[in-house]
Amino acid sequence: MATLAITGGQLLRPDGTISRADVLVDQDEGTILELGDDLAGTGDTNLDASNALVTPGFVNGHSHVAMTLLRGHADDKPLDAWLQEDIWPAEDELTPEDIRVGAELGLLEMIKSGTTAFADMYFEVPEIAAAVDTAGLRARLGHGVVTVAADEAAAREDAQTSIDVARELDGAADGRISTAFMPHSLTTVGEEYLDEFVPKAREIGVPIHYHANETTDEVAPIVEERGMRPLAYAAEKGMLEPEDFVAHGVHVDESEIELLAEAGTGVIHCPGSNMKLASGMAPVQRLLDAGVTVGLGTDGAASNNDLSLLDEARDAAMVGKLETGDASAVPAGAVAEFLTHGTADAIGLDTGRLEPGSAADLAVIDLETPHLTPPHDLVSHLAYAAAAADVKHTICDGQVLMRDREVQTLDERAVCDRAREHAVALVDRAAE
Ligand SMILES: [Zn+2]
Repeated sequence: MATLAITGGQLLRPDGTISRADVLVDQDEGTILELGDDLAGTGDTNLDASNALVTPGFVNGHSHVAMTLLRGHADDKPLDAWLQEDIWPAEDELTPEDIRVGAELGLLEMIKSGTTAFADMYFEVPEIAAAVDTAGLRARLGHGVVTVAADEAAAREDAQTSIDVARELDGAADGRISTAFMPHSLTTVGEEYLDEFVPKAREIGVPIHYHANETTDEVAPIVEERGMRPLAYAAEKGMLEPEDFVAHGVHVDESEIELLAEAGTGVIHCPGSNMKLASGMAPVQRLLDAGVTVGLGTDGAASNNDLSLLDEARDAAMVGKLETGDASAVPAGAVAEFLTHGTADAIGLDTGRLEPGSAADLAVIDLETPHLTPPHDLVSHLAYAAAAADVKHTICDGQVLMRDREVQTLDERAVCDRAREHAVALVDRAAE
């Protein structure tokens, strides 16, 4: 058995408290063997965490990781115009190789900011899975289905691809990859395709993930056409089960909050994207009060514009207070849960808690920096002050993905060079 010891640090416990502990990891099993106070030098590999905070690796509940290629390509527009004028024309030009290169850039950024697990909706998913396999993260991947503007044959093929990808890739990368059926949203996928393909997703036993109630433009047509709220419609279509999770949930009313709580369906809060596209503010404290499982996501890098969950954590706490006019809303402790097991639970991945037997997915945050001094309250630092560049080691499934800020599984320089080339060529093609 190969072992890894991470020693000298302060440990974020599953109950949200922080105390001194060393961690010993079984690298063959990818699990935590033991927590102790004197494990220095006991591993085959040893990582120093003195004057550092050891947390579960962060979990990103909603992303489109290959969209890193479109970071900074189109800003300062509302969702509809942004998608139709800039994003979709560029995405039409994406090649499988572009998606591989964009995914590698996103995964590099995730590792450098302490993220070890994520849920992702995109296309050419085998390319993303290959990048995940190489990079060493854990993921729930799915093919995003859009049927509006497609003829019937193309629409059915798109939905079938999402089912096939979910079946074929589940368990890939030595079990680090799980999957889901991913219709893009309740307004971009026709009812007949939901009727046909949601039961197929249940047959193969994968969750369903989709965008829901992101903007008022997405809510109004469903209310007008069907006389019911979007999430009541989702429930009617069998898309509101305990294993399912929706992105955004910005414009949800009390009846929908109740539906989510009763169903046990998770909501992935994406405050950065919601603010940038001026979509609105999700009622996160009311969701929490109702007992809804809330996670955190960055959404794609084109609407954020980075993939750091520490940025997202601070946004979640800040916007939660602004939305309620209550400074005690969405406190630091809630945000620490969003970063770790809250999101893991919402997307159904077994990670996010540091205790013996659990997944050895960790981030080590260097506290030797002015903005994390003094150490009155390290949960507060996690929510309000820590930044991506403070992460010094990242471990997933017992493997060291980054050591002393050096990523071990991807060549940082080469990935950035390739991404620059592909992104420039892509935007040129889209402009032709
Ligand atoms: Zn999204």
